[in-house]
Amino acid sequence: GLALVPYGQGRIRGLEANELGAHGTAMDRLVALGLPVVPGLTVPAGSAGSLGEPGTARAAVELVEQLSGRRIGDPARPLLLRLSASAPREVAGLPPDLACLGVTPDNAADLVAVIGRAEALYEVWATTVRMIAEYALDVPAAVLDDALLDTPEPRARVEALLALVAQHAERPFPADPAEQLALAARAVLARWDSPRARRSRKAQKLPADLGIALHVQALSIGPSDRSGYGTAVSRHPETGRFGAEGSYFRGVRRSAPPPHTGEPLRKPAAGTTLLEHALLTLERHLHAPVSVDFEVRDGEISLLAASVQSRPPLRASVCLAADLARDGAIDQEEAIRRIAPAQVQELLHPQLRLTGDEDLLVRGLPASPGAAAGVVVLSSERALELAAEHTHAVLVMHETTPADVPGMLAAAAVLTGSGGIASHAAVVARGAGKPAVCGAEGLRVDRAAGTVRIGDRTLREGDPVSLDGRTGAVYAGTLSVSVAGPPPELSTLLEWADDARRLGVRVNADTAAEVDTAIALGAEGVGLCRTEHQFLGERLPLIRSVILAADPEARDEALLALEHAQHEDFKALLTAVGDRPVTVRLLDAPLHEFLPAPGEAEAAGDPAAEQRAASLREANPMLGLRGVRLALLHERLYPAQAEALFSAWVDVAATGVTPQLEVMIPLVSLPEELQAAAGFVRDAAATVAARTGVRVPYRLGTMIETPRAALLAADLAEHAEFFSFGTNDLTQLTYGFSRDDVERQVLTAYQERGFLTASPFARLDPHGVGALIALAVERARTVRPDIKLGVCGEHGGDPESIAFCDDLGLDYVSCSAHRVPVARMAAAHSAL
Ligand code: PEP
Ligand code: MG
Repeated sequence: GLALVPYGQGRIRGLEANELGAHGTAMDRLVALGLPVVPGLTVPAGSAGSLGEPGTARAAVELVEQLSGRRIGDPARPLLLRLSASAPREVAGLPPDLACLGVTPDNAADLVAVIGRAEALYEVWATTVRMIAEYALDVPAAVLDDALLDTPEPRARVEALLALVAQHAERPFPADPAEQLALAARAVLARWDSPRARRSRKAQKLPADLGIALHVQALSIGPSDRSGYGTAVSRHPETGRFGAEGSYFRGVRRSAPPPHTGEPLRKPAAGTTLLEHALLTLERHLHAPVSVDFEVRDGEISLLAASVQSRPPLRASVCLAADLARDGAIDQEEAIRRIAPAQVQELLHPQLRLTGDEDLLVRGLPASPGAAAGVVVLSSERALELAAEHTHAVLVMHETTPADVPGMLAAAAVLTGSGGIASHAAVVARGAGKPAVCGAEGLRVDRAAGTVRIGDRTLREGDPVSLDGRTGAVYAGTLSVSVAGPPPELSTLLEWADDARRLGVRVNADTAAEVDTAIALGAEGVGLCRTEHQFLGERLPLIRSVILAADPEARDEALLALEHAQHEDFKALLTAVGDRPVTVRLLDAPLHEFLPAPGEAEAAGDPAAEQRAASLREANPMLGLRGVRLALLHERLYPAQAEALFSAWVDVAATGVTPQLEVMIPLVSLPEELQAAAGFVRDAAATVAARTGVRVPYRLGTMIETPRAALLAADLAEHAEFFSFGTNDLTQLTYGFSRDDVERQVLTAYQERGFLTASPFARLDPHGVGALIALAVERARTVRPDIKLGVCGEHGGDPESIAFCDDLGLDYVSCSAHRVPVARMAAAHSAL
């Protein structure tokens, strides 16, 4: 009749998942795919109660005997049964499987002889009798618990339980397998109906009267050296590669295999090929990483469950997406859609392997992704020393300055107590691909004492810490860091993303090494070379001497040294760029980053320089003498830089490489500023042409970094062949939010209040800053319809901001090298 449905026949008989349960449905699918399943049947949810009647139970026993070709009680080819239950979908609180139905004190010895080991059989048997006793025979739970308390040995437990049933129940525990099965069915259904199980369903927002299907299966009994059970997933958890991965247990299957135990699946092990065939078939059918439960009897494998992996490792999803598209099972666009841009980021950076037992010291701003463990160092010098000893260091500072760059590059990670995600530490760390956490509240560095206080904890220089730049978490101690690089399949997906996207992706890079890295990661050119960054660290004095020169001769001399150094920098940079476009921004040096610290020049024996520095210090350096403004006060500055750039181009072009040069003027708010600066650049080009005979092809453009520049876009476009939106400064100046420290308190509070969902320095504000950009684009195009437009603020690496730029029809975004792959994927997602 309809009450007993062999695996594989559910859908043929017109039954849906609510009748067959998730397990019955899965077994149907396995049979339909031609995969070997454990012999068994389903009692549909609507008639599950009928299995509690001996007549139906007897028919079920006979049917499973027929399906498996074995008989219960046959000592040579033994058979036992397992009863399990399943709901239409995953639910918590399903009754456990009741296995070993059919075993009796009389046949147990034969079974043990076949298996070769007694322990597991008695253990499973005890579990089954315990549940039947409580839920079907009404033996009080307390009585059962008391009796089992001092009986750890499985065989003694079974004997104790059978004695308790004989004593407390109306009749002794039956020997007849059909009667055992009927009792087991009643026990499972009673437990599913218990007040506790109903409460659990309510908590899961499931109907209290949700029905379950029952399943009766042949239980594998065979010699334990050639029989067992296990679970396998279709993908290696670390590499994402296809292959049966999992564990195997010898002997009789317990209710559910304990995770992370058992033996690893050996290759080539009995059945592995078949297992891989099954996993591959299922993946192709379900388009997802899958897992299966299987049994092996006498070396023969059969499946007892198959499902889509609930939270597959990211690498598994990436490799599967590429594999499916290569096989034509899905198209390339679908493969791209399956991987979120943020996941690309995750794949590119090392991560901490967290267990949940970590000792969290503090949570700061996630300023640069990646993870590292290392010892605390409080100075750049110490970071450099440790790097020479190949020791990982975490540079901990209140804030960093350009002088700290070499130490930052030597350290494994950076942690600061102040500064936001656009602070010096954050920008440098992202550029270098180093993990960083900034603005960690309550962090106090005492360099003299060699200690750092974090809240009420004190760490000493040399203490180990671990840091996660993606979450902003800082932990005490050395945590394990995963360093596996991205799977090659990611490159494949990113190439498909390149085919799908309209928006260009460039890199913000200042050195040839960064350009090399970025091109390897898929950058199409350089969208921003911040020339002031070429003077960080030991070359700081070059700019300092220009700014602090005592007289015009000294300044000319300093400029010559600067030009010389830049010539070499540019040659290396342009060579690395090749024939691609490269936007070189002339100096934008916020003075405070380049002036000596108060007292420093005096101490170095130059009181005059000390005085000049003092007279240059500003109350609001980010609103002061920076960008084009400095160039207008020191009129030889931009010509010197531009000449260095053009003559470097001539040298590089002589080797057959012709970069598409774009010269960019920063922090403009008056068209007159741009016009004057453009004049400097034109003059430099003429000078180089006169000297070398080569007219260097270049475009001249401006950054749009102030609201006024955005509003006057039409006037600026008269003098500019391209615009690059400097959304860091544009955000700072539109909100009047200091990019260096507003995140620490104000933005945190605003996010808590729900005023903002993200920092506008991380995610472009579409309503204010974005509206200014849209307006500037529209106005600029009225004057110069083909004006080239890009974004080079930090937003150029943020997926949502990238979608905004794509919608505006900008030509490209430019971001840190390590975010280039993220930007490629985000631009593709935006285009799909
Ligand atoms: C900007 O302001 O967005 C920009 C790219 O320039 P910087 O970050 O160097 O000020
Ligand atoms: Mg700027």
